[in-house]
Amino acid sequence: MLPSKRRSKSRQNRLNKVFSFLARHVPKLSRIKLFIGCPVIRQERKKSKRAFCHVGHHKEAICCAPETARLPLNHIVGLLLHELGHLATGKGDLEADVWCAKVLGVPIQYKGKLHLEWVDLKPH
Ligand SMILES: [Zn+2]
Ligand SMILES: [Zn+2]
Repeated sequence: MLPSKRRSKSRQNRLNKVFSFLARHVPKLSRIKLFIGCPVIRQERKKSKRAFCHVGHHKEAICCAPETARLPLNHIVGLLLHELGHLATGKGDLEADVWCAKVLGVPIQYKGKLHLEWVDLKPH
């Protein structure tokens, strides 16, 4: 296997692991599938550096760009829960974040240069 291929495989594994870990703690996520390497996101990433994940493309699935796995864990969790908020509400960004705060008790924050979804992972 090419080194670049191997790197992208281990990145996808990381993303899958984070996703399964989250799904064990967030029952609503356990019915959802993760689709890494969606060609539509690859196109969207050429236009926007903030394009990492989306929903509504495949039924009951969150599509992710492989690059998502390179982000800090706080961003990965934030993105995945935000997307789950879209699936749960069928609505826009605001409603998705309100759902995360109200139903999951997880406030979605926006941080970093890209102003990306971010979740505080410190135990309280
Ligand atoms: Zn997609
Ligand atoms: Zn959104």
